Amino acid sequence: MSKYLSLFRAFRRKEVVESISISAFGLITWYFLGDVDFLGGIYLTSLQLEIFSVSKIFTAFLIISACYLIYLIRRIFDLQDQILKRKETDKNVAWIAQHDLLTKLPNRHFLQNFISNLDDAREKGENKSYAFFAIDLDGFKKVNDLLGHHGGDELLVTLSKRLVKLAPNDLIVRLGGDEFVIIAEWAEGKNFQEFAEEIILELSTPVRIIDNYVEVGACVGVSLYPEDSHLVSEVSRCADVAMYVAKNNGRGSIKRFQTWMDSLLVKRAEIEQSLRQAVKNNDIFPNYQPLVDLSTGEIRGYEALARWIDPTGELIPPAIFIEIAEESGLIITLTENLLRKSCEDAMKWPPGLRLSFNISPTQLNDKLLGLRILNILGETGWSPARLEIEITESTLISDTDCAIKILQDLHDAGVSIAIDDFGTGYSSLSQLAQFNFDKIKIDRSFVSQLGQDEKSRNVVKAMLSLGKGLEISTLAEGIETEAELEALKALGCDMGQGYLFGKPQSAEEVLKTLNQLSSDGDKEVQSAG
Ligand code: C2E
Ligand code: CA
Ligand code: CA
Repeated sequence: MSKYLSLFRAFRRKEVVESISISAFGLITWYFLGDVDFLGGIYLTSLQLEIFSVSKIFTAFLIISACYLIYLIRRIFDLQDQILKRKETDKNVAWIAQHDLLTKLPNRHFLQNFISNLDDAREKGENKSYAFFAIDLDGFKKVNDLLGHHGGDELLVTLSKRLVKLAPNDLIVRLGGDEFVIIAEWAEGKNFQEFAEEIILELSTPVRIIDNYVEVGACVGVSLYPEDSHLVSEVSRCADVAMYVAKNNGRGSIKRFQTWMDSLLVKRAEIEQSLRQAVKNNDIFPNYQPLVDLSTGEIRGYEALARWIDPTGELIPPAIFIEIAEESGLIITLTENLLRKSCEDAMKWPPGLRLSFNISPTQLNDKLLGLRILNILGETGWSPARLEIEITESTLISDTDCAIKILQDLHDAGVSIAIDDFGTGYSSLSQLAQFNFDKIKIDRSFVSQLGQDEKSRNVVKAMLSLGKGLEISTLAEGIETEAELEALKALGCDMGQGYLFGKPQSAEEVLKTLNQLSSDGDKEVQSAG
């Protein structure tokens, strides 16, 4: 019965109205023409014409009716076909809405539905356990920068396939970018650490892309349902928080969610809040570290390094607050304030000294950066020819066009440009050739390994000869021992920076040092005279 009811319901208003109207038209026609003797008429006509017999006319009627019946049946089949296709399209649209087209993995919407279904099932008494693994790739951006988006896409597809192979029965979701989630049914006592390690191993095995072997890493945050919360959505958030903590811990970290992690996020939010205040009040100030000519031992300039003493009196290193400033957008004002203060301080230095200043990678997307810097130079009277901008190597390859334009404008105005932390990024020779850099700053990690093996020595040697070949001045960072200094001098490095020459000092200490040096110099001249 219900089958017929639903069939009846399937008729739409239009069909009901149409069938009633056609039936009414038939009844009215029958009412008015019911007395007309059609058959008799046809019979008489056929006798008169002597061409067609009545049976032939009937046969013709029958054949025409049969043809129309066949035609109708075919249209019904067509209709059914169209309905099927429509259903298929609807299904495809639903699939597309819930999946990532690149990797074919379920996407964030799918995950949301899945989570709310799990919550419903839990309410209905189902008590399965699940483990959530929030995954974020390490170094994916660099692959994208190096090999372009096609290369990055290819890598993501390969890594997704590996994850599916590793966990064929679990739900694997690509959240977007280089973030994934695996949700696995979890028996009590199962070792999540082992599984997370397997995930990292799968993702860090090199992948061959366009004749290159690329290698990324991954960090994993783990949370358990219902152990961490009875709300699946909350467990998913916990995995995210754990992943964030893992990410801060460094490449390849695995972190299981713990409640204190929430407070870490709160702490970060607090830092951001007081950083906002500090930037507004100009509480962040520069210290200066000497840059020394290795052949003469003379100070040629200073690098400005940001320092912040927070309201509790704690010295917060730039490694922490610069990142927060970048993410919160405070970096623009912070950089302007620091550069202004640095130029004002440097105006008290002797004429030959230069100022080096760090610019964050994120700022090279700011088309107004060049103008902002030149404005401050104009305001303070510091000559562009005495300013050097340091940018980390990785910066050079993200959004190259905008970055190169900014650097070129500054260069044209007389500002020098140095590549900072050289050797830690991925700048290729073509990128080096694309712009006339003035200096390469070899990263500390290479200098500290100098004395350890022949290979490290050769790497530094290669970097120095690259600098020579491109006619770019070279500076070694983080020189702490006489042995390192001697080795670098022997290899022909032009300049150096490090605790051996001096730690970062306040503006006042720098002036004292410079005064001391000049009076020592005067004495030397006098004694020589
Ligand atoms: P960086 O530009 O590579 O600066 C050199 C860092 O190495 C400084 O750390 C300096 O104190 C440290 N250093 C110098 N010589 C030695 C040495 O001999 N041994 C050791 N162990 N360390 C040495 P700092 O001041 O903590 O700065 C860290 C990073 O924060 C800087 O690395 C730079 O990337 C960033 N930073 C600092 N100030 C600013 C700023 O005003 N703006 C921006 N955007 N970034 C900044
Ligand atoms: Ca620097
Ligand atoms: Ca550096």
